[in-house]
Amino acid sequence: MLEDRHAVYDYQTIEKHWQAKWEADGLYRAPDDDPRPKYYVLEMLPYPSGDLHVGHAKNYTLGDVLTRMMRMRGFNVMHPMGWDAFGLPAENAAIQRNIPPETWTRSNIANMRRQIRLMGAGYDWSREFATCDATYYKWNQWFFLRMYESNLAYKREAPVNWCPVDMTVLANEQVEDGRCWRCHSVVERRNLSQWFFKITDYADRLLAGIEKLDGWPDRIRSMQRNWIGRSEGTTFAFAVDEVDATLEVYTTRVDTVYGVTFIALAAEHPAVAKILAAHPKERVTIDEFAAGLRSKSELERTSLMEKTGVFTGAYAINPLSRERIPIWVTNYVLADYGTGAVMGVPGHDERDFDFAKKHGLPIAQVIAEHKAPPDAPLEAAFTADGYLIASAHFDGMTSARAREADTEKLAAGGLGRKTVNFRFRDWLISRQRYWGTPIPIIYCPTDGEVAVPDDQLPVILPPNVPITGQGSPLARDEAFLNVTCPKCGGPAKRESDTMDTFVDSSWYYVRYLDSQNAAAPFARDKADAWLPVDQYIGGAEHAVLHLLYARFFYMFMVDRGWVDGRKGDEPFARLFNQGLLLRNGEKMSKSRGNVVGIDETVETYGVDAMRLFLLKAAPPEDSLEWTDEGIVGRVRFVSRVWRACEPLTSAAAHVGYTSLPEIRGDAQRDLVRAVHVALQSGTFETESRRLHYNATTARLDELINALTASLRDPAMANDPAVLYAVHVMPIVLAPFAPHLAEELWSRLGHTTSVHLERWLDADPAALAVATIEFVVQVNGKVRGRITTPPGIDEESAFALAMAEANVRANIGEKPIRKRIYVPDKLLNLVV
Ligand SMILES: [Zn+2]
Ligand SMILES: [Zn+2]
Repeated sequence: MLEDRHAVYDYQTIEKHWQAKWEADGLYRAPDDDPRPKYYVLEMLPYPSGDLHVGHAKNYTLGDVLTRMMRMRGFNVMHPMGWDAFGLPAENAAIQRNIPPETWTRSNIANMRRQIRLMGAGYDWSREFATCDATYYKWNQWFFLRMYESNLAYKREAPVNWCPVDMTVLANEQVEDGRCWRCHSVVERRNLSQWFFKITDYADRLLAGIEKLDGWPDRIRSMQRNWIGRSEGTTFAFAVDEVDATLEVYTTRVDTVYGVTFIALAAEHPAVAKILAAHPKERVTIDEFAAGLRSKSELERTSLMEKTGVFTGAYAINPLSRERIPIWVTNYVLADYGTGAVMGVPGHDERDFDFAKKHGLPIAQVIAEHKAPPDAPLEAAFTADGYLIASAHFDGMTSARAREADTEKLAAGGLGRKTVNFRFRDWLISRQRYWGTPIPIIYCPTDGEVAVPDDQLPVILPPNVPITGQGSPLARDEAFLNVTCPKCGGPAKRESDTMDTFVDSSWYYVRYLDSQNAAAPFARDKADAWLPVDQYIGGAEHAVLHLLYARFFYMFMVDRGWVDGRKGDEPFARLFNQGLLLRNGEKMSKSRGNVVGIDETVETYGVDAMRLFLLKAAPPEDSLEWTDEGIVGRVRFVSRVWRACEPLTSAAAHVGYTSLPEIRGDAQRDLVRAVHVALQSGTFETESRRLHYNATTARLDELINALTASLRDPAMANDPAVLYAVHVMPIVLAPFAPHLAEELWSRLGHTTSVHLERWLDADPAALAVATIEFVVQVNGKVRGRITTPPGIDEESAFALAMAEANVRANIGEKPIRKRIYVPDKLLNLVV
């Protein structure tokens, strides 16, 4: 207790004092053996970029409030924190400032850990780790080897962004307007042999699982569904006329096959070379066209660039109509996506329609709204289903029926088959970079690809590797590369690629549960005791990749029996997406120069005021504008609570808080009700998982208004209701303003923390009100106000309304068409 502080709330001293005490007492440790039910709250693992700003604090505050609420509601709460420490920015810092990536990363972690502690957030720090710890990434390598032995990790050629000057692979974010971020030369696409995880093997399961995730925002679920992109269709082949090649295509609209008027090929399609051998005079045009595409990213080709192409001089044969179809090389079909060939149906596809118009290709209509052929040519693609026309003996069929019939016909001729397709692709995990987990593979001239044996893990990322931005740093480190083959003992070379950092974040939530384990990534009993994560909190930018990869990893763990599949195969039971914190209408970011730092905010206003502002200004899923007036308002709230409660703590210490006080009059009843309305709101937002604690903090404002009003009334001095409110105040404040609550609680004479107290359930007797007033409207206009006991039903409310002369006068002889009743508030009669 800090005795000498009375009138002014000295948040700086008080907040620091309690943070040190909580830390020393291990208040937020989550014991493994505990009879209470478990609850696992997790915020997405932060990347240690350097400095936290109040936007980050918004994320952590919500998780912290939920953690405190659940603990006060009787749960053993797990709330860990760690660092997503590998990644590109550390390497860039190394190049720009000549600091080793590890030094840069560790110093950022130290600073961010200090800032998170400064926020007074209740984490179990005994579980902390950074993904760049060898004790962590060892298990990334172990997971890789388990994937490898399950045929879920494999190597193949895939295109990458390549800087021809720096001789290095560039991440997508290092390509700016098609140029290298360092030397500004034009970036090329190049094929490199790379490692993949075969996530597509889990496509059906990842898709089916989404249906069960009813604790996730619908928006995220549909983004995952679209990303996976399952479709049912037909795969079939066009033969190339006079060339020994076939072009396989996949379509969901085989009913439009009689309307194919061109074939669109990727420039990199293997048939292109064969076609050019037979049509040499097109070679220059095609080569020039292909060269122009080499520097373009996938995004540019499929979304940003105008769709264009060149004719190859060759024709394909439509397997059903036997028509000759011109073959074009286009910019929008990609070789490594689907089959690299697409049938062009301008009559029934918008993109093909534009392409055909631009290049003067025929547009044939083969689907019509009615069975009769239309008399006017199409002015735009007709993309809906309909009836087949101009399609030989399929004419008159519906699109759905024709899809079956066309597929059967193709299958009978051995030319095609029904197929299920997924839009998403295998997960490319290879990075030609330094600051990541080395991939545990060795290449031996005798044995080929050899997995590093488990007992030789971890493959340590060597320190002091020069990072110049040119080439892959590990590929030049002879000491790292040269190794003895584990199979034959001969000289061999290590893989120099490192893993995508999304591997690190795919299983970290299990490692927290057993973070010191040196023998295994985690022990099954510890994982079973805590999983799944009950509430995951983070930004919507991870809607697809991270959340999909983590679900895939978890399913793999279930399949291998490392976690209990009887609890389902989803790691995150509920997901909450935080809205952004804005300043001057824009997202806070260093480059915009609109960042509000944690240190200065805590110094100037205090942690509790900051927390209350971040909670109060908007529902947590909405974006929220930072304003100085807003936080000053919360500073005022904190000091109002202090001035009202602190002088009465000695008197209130003798008043119980677990049962309702004696109510001497309406003023007392209103005050006690305000206490319980706030308790009820906290309970509701927590139990419903709506987490709109902005509503609860608004109730806290009403409570302090009621208490302040009571204190101004001389008749209320030392009233049991007032002292009761003062005694309950720290409990109802604890999740939101934990330091203020703890200081008041201590001054009330308690020797244990308020954060170990039970949250109080709202007492219906305290919530009860003697009378309410509801409004009667006729066609939306107020025509009467009726005072009744609360909770009357619609019929009774209607009877009372009809007893009012003014209401009857406004209805007259008109029949009542509709009644809208909001209990205890409103009855609207529509006539
Ligand atoms: Zn470059
Ligand atoms: Zn060997």
